[in-house]
Amino acid sequence: MASPDTVAELIARLDAPDHGRWAAQLRRTGGCRQPIHLRGHVLHVDPATGRRLHTYTTATEPGGILRVPCKTRRASRCPSCAETYRADTYHLIRAGLVGGKGVPPTVATHPCLFVTLTAPSFGLVHTRRERGAKLLPCHPRRNARTCPHGRVLSCTAKHSADDPRLGEPLCPECYDYSGSVLFNAVAPELWRRFTEALRRRFAKLSGLTLKALKEKVTISFAKVAEYQRRGVVHLHAVIRLDGPDGPESPPPGWASAEALAQAVQHAVSAVTVTITAADGEPARVLKWGTQLDIRRIAMDGGLTEQAVASYIAKYATKAAECVGALDQRINPLTDLDTLPIRDHARRLIAACMHLGAFDELADLRLIQWAHMLGFRGHFSTKSRHYSTTLGDIRADRTERVRAEAITTGRLPLFDEDTVLVITHWEYVGKGLSPVDALLASLRLEVNPDA
Ligand SMILES: [Zn+2]
Ligand SMILES: [Zn+2]
Ligand SMILES: [Zn+2]
Repeated sequence: MASPDTVAELIARLDAPDHGRWAAQLRRTGGCRQPIHLRGHVLHVDPATGRRLHTYTTATEPGGILRVPCKTRRASRCPSCAETYRADTYHLIRAGLVGGKGVPPTVATHPCLFVTLTAPSFGLVHTRRERGAKLLPCHPRRNARTCPHGRVLSCTAKHSADDPRLGEPLCPECYDYSGSVLFNAVAPELWRRFTEALRRRFAKLSGLTLKALKEKVTISFAKVAEYQRRGVVHLHAVIRLDGPDGPESPPPGWASAEALAQAVQHAVSAVTVTITAADGEPARVLKWGTQLDIRRIAMDGGLTEQAVASYIAKYATKAAECVGALDQRINPLTDLDTLPIRDHARRLIAACMHLGAFDELADLRLIQWAHMLGFRGHFSTKSRHYSTTLGDIRADRTERVRAEAITTGRLPLFDEDTVLVITHWEYVGKGLSPVDALLASLRLEVNPDA
């Protein structure tokens, strides 16, 4: 609820002569929750005469400040910018499946799989289990054993979808918190080794050397990380076979989805990452979980390209949900007990802080990435050949915004080659004042598409 002071200030702002500019700025940031504030100017100069053709300065903006969107991918930080990111990711993934954005439509005929690589178990956790429409008990065990901490390792509850216990261990003392955060920390390296092993295996199945395979087939990837409720990442990946030049070239007939699936199966079970022992912590060998889901992406029903693109785009905007709103780096001196999170997340963060202090594990940078529960990989990545880039999609949009500014007369039409553009920007802060926030929220409620 807005305070009376905020409402009074809002009314004063709406009455002010520059309220139109101010509202327009908020509109341009598209409901961004934490817009970046800039001060500066843009000068268009004729290089021949030195004459100023056009001047834009933030001095004419309300408060002398221009607000631009924060462009975060995190829905928890800024729902509006994350939505833009989600939509861009969707188009990027979809272009790699059916073409568009510079990718030829023939790419749709290339063999393509949707693969989910899972984390292993680090102990029993409360789970929502369903068979069809029927909800099943969590972990029913008739003669369940009792753990060393006196807990019976059975749970007959039928957990509702919003049960906060979901993903939390039956016994926190038994749960392998170190294993969980170490797996997150090495997941990007496991992925890299998986892609290498996949190429090697696919070459072997094709009766070719790796070098000979590269001259005939490109294996392209796009992947996204998804946090499970238990706080460990799974990776979802689109894996596609192309000819030697990427999506423009068809793969040879023998390069089939079946052979690719076989190679995926092998590569997932073959790769490991070894963690060296540290004071009191044993050495470990980490690998993917035994659950592996491989599905064909087909245009004829089944798993459609829209479903895959939506799925990947959705996860691209999420962080570790089990830590809730805590998505900033954690100061190592913070008393973890003061963090507004559940005990399970606190224990995962504590494991990062504990392991991160060992010299042997310094490379994993667990303290810096404690708020991500050890995972420091990119959320969504793709290989060079997969499709277009987020940068190209963004440039496309910027170009459209610029075209709109020109046609509506806000920006003069200059030939870029003959005009000197001098810009100077200065970062002066970010966020919304209480009044800005109130107006932005009103706007969102009244017109969610604005
Ligand atoms: Zn934003
Ligand atoms: Zn349970
Ligand atoms: Zn126990």
